[in-house]
Amino acid sequence: TTMQFDAAFKVIDALQLAGYDAVVVGGAVRDTLLGVPVHDVDVATSATPKQTKTVFQKTVDIGIEHGTILVLDMGEPIEVTTFRTEGTYADHRRPDNVDFVTDLAEDLRRRDFTINAMALRSKTDIVDLFGGQDDLAAHIVRAVGVAEERFAEDALRMLRAVRFSAKLNFDVEQQTYTAMKKRAADLRFIAIERIKAEFDQIVRSGQPYRAFQLLVDTGLSTYLPGSFQTIEQWRGFKAQDSLTGWAFFSYLEQDVQLISRYRGSNKEQRFVKHVFQALQTLKTAPTPRELFDLDEVVWQAATMIANHVWQTNHTVEDILATKAALPIQQKNDLAVTGKEFLAWSGQKGGPWLKEALQQLLNGVLDGTILNDEQHIRGWFEREWKF
Ligand code: ATP
Ligand code: MG
Repeated sequence: TTMQFDAAFKVIDALQLAGYDAVVVGGAVRDTLLGVPVHDVDVATSATPKQTKTVFQKTVDIGIEHGTILVLDMGEPIEVTTFRTEGTYADHRRPDNVDFVTDLAEDLRRRDFTINAMALRSKTDIVDLFGGQDDLAAHIVRAVGVAEERFAEDALRMLRAVRFSAKLNFDVEQQTYTAMKKRAADLRFIAIERIKAEFDQIVRSGQPYRAFQLLVDTGLSTYLPGSFQTIEQWRGFKAQDSLTGWAFFSYLEQDVQLISRYRGSNKEQRFVKHVFQALQTLKTAPTPRELFDLDEVVWQAATMIANHVWQTNHTVEDILATKAALPIQQKNDLAVTGKEFLAWSGQKGGPWLKEALQQLLNGVLDGTILNDEQHIRGWFEREWKF
């Protein structure tokens, strides 16, 4: 945002005044040049974390090992990271050591893609050592340096290439693409949590179909959970949020466990399970009880998916309107509780009570029982004679 940019350039001015080099780097530069919304404005500097802390009043250490300091002086919190190079990569996933350096060029050289390796020293002074602007204009994702080496260093970069290609609708440059094919198997060294984080972005990107094609064509999919046999179905699908994307991916794979194989949270696993349930009911029509039991977001995702895969006559609006028009929205809205049933019957609690409450809920939801204490009492005394 503009506010973040203003704060970042104030941070940069202060660092430069203190004699250090400082720039905006990475995604913010790329997105500004593309004219798309910027979410985080990151600053990089030649000052060490310790030096950065002496320049500002209010700072928080947020990533000692990476040398990241959060600067709070300018209203908007700004992350300031010391220029660094990365040492050798013994395990294809993280550098064995990180060295702080004072030369911006060295910091830019370790970055993954040319479009991500540009810096702004001021609003008008762009540092572009690897042709990032040309690649932005040509809509190309190209590794900085020798692609195969860069992927051998950190295999996650191959998924990042897929992510940026899908997010920006860019092609992967030929040598970068060839290197992905060659190094695909290195993906097995990457923690599934990092892979999941890339997938969160891939499944809700503007071009997930492009991403899935790339994953299959490069052979990366071989090293990922899932069969990737039904990727054609991604054509034309666009999810607003990653949960819907995961539900769709899981549905295409006919595997409700897919999300857990990517170590999705319990909440994410539950969401996918619920979408599967909702999809089952959408083949005909959901009952009032089914509409009641599942959340709006679940119906939203399920209806979107159903309409994409089988063109149902349910619209999201209809489903949500029918749900909203149910006589009650929560169990608490029932005019009576088990307490009244116990009092009216003079019985002790037991399995019958649970059963009676279920019947009541279903009856109220489908309109056969009016949600009114007297009416419910009449129904109860008729149906539950002791
Ligand atoms: P987004 O807008 O999606 O956050 P981003 O470009 O900011 O995109 P981040 O993952 O936030 O992407 O990383 C910030 C920057 O750090 C990147 O632009 C890139 O320069 C660098 N970077 C991140 N991860 C890697 C990596 N694995 N290898 C090399 N450089 C990386
Ligand atoms: Mg970012």
